[in-house]
Amino acid sequence: MRERIATAAHAAARSPLDITLMAVTKTFPAQAIREAYAAGICLFGENYVQEFDEKSESMGSAALVGPDAAIHMIGHLQSNKAGKAVELLDGVDSVDSLKLAKRLDAAAATLADPSSPSKLPLPVLIEVNVGGEAAKSGLAPDSPELEALLLAAPALTHLHICGLMTIPPWDDDPEASRPYFRRARTLLDTIAARHLPGISMYVLSMGMSGDMEVAIAEGSTCVRVGTAIFGKRKLAPAQGGASTENTP
Ligand SMILES: *Cc1c(COP(=O)(O)O)cnc(C)c1O
Repeated sequence: MRERIATAAHAAARSPLDITLMAVTKTFPAQAIREAYAAGICLFGENYVQEFDEKSESMGSAALVGPDAAIHMIGHLQSNKAGKAVELLDGVDSVDSLKLAKRLDAAAATLADPSSPSKLPLPVLIEVNVGGEAAKSGLAPDSPELEALLLAAPALTHLHICGLMTIPPWDDDPEASRPYFRRARTLLDTIAARHLPGISMYVLSMGMSGDMEVAIAEGSTCVRVGTAIFGKRKLAPAQGGASTENTP
């Protein structure tokens, strides 16, 4: 996997060190997380709070990985699960509404646990829906709600908004993702150039097992990889409801 990333980075005249590998562990057991961590992976993505709660036996990320690693939420998060997510996880890469951002900020404020200073402020990414698909979560690039979220950042003092996450429309041709990745990159640059208070734009999470090379060529700083590390997912996700998964 690292070789695939390195090859793609070199082809794009980028340093592989600028691209973080996130292992996506939805439907895989706690043991898979431990093994990947032992193999040197330090960032993990989970899609469902309840599934992760069961996997970690309500102990959260600390039970599964060391302090040098982090487990982030990457699936759609209902506002009423914000508290649980902040308690168990180390970041939320799928912030798709101002309401959720406010709930996470409030939850992080009450957590304020001095024994886990790494959790504060909580690192978050704004999920943007560059494909304009109705079934997918994420804020539209030119929506008033995205603008409202960006402008609300100074009040969200327990969040560290550090970039964008996006999932392009599913297509088995990785080249089909390129215009969407490019759009996300352009949006990131446009927001960064505004130097908004409370907003950093150094993380661009895009690219999965099938299209990470194209994502890296278009400026991804974090690829989210499940299948290419752990194999095909056999189980259905442990929890019903809207999934951000875009594979059939
Ligand atoms: C499942 C998932 C991935 C990983 O997809 P693979 O094709 O298995 O690499 C990445 N991002 C999100 C948001 C996902 O839900």
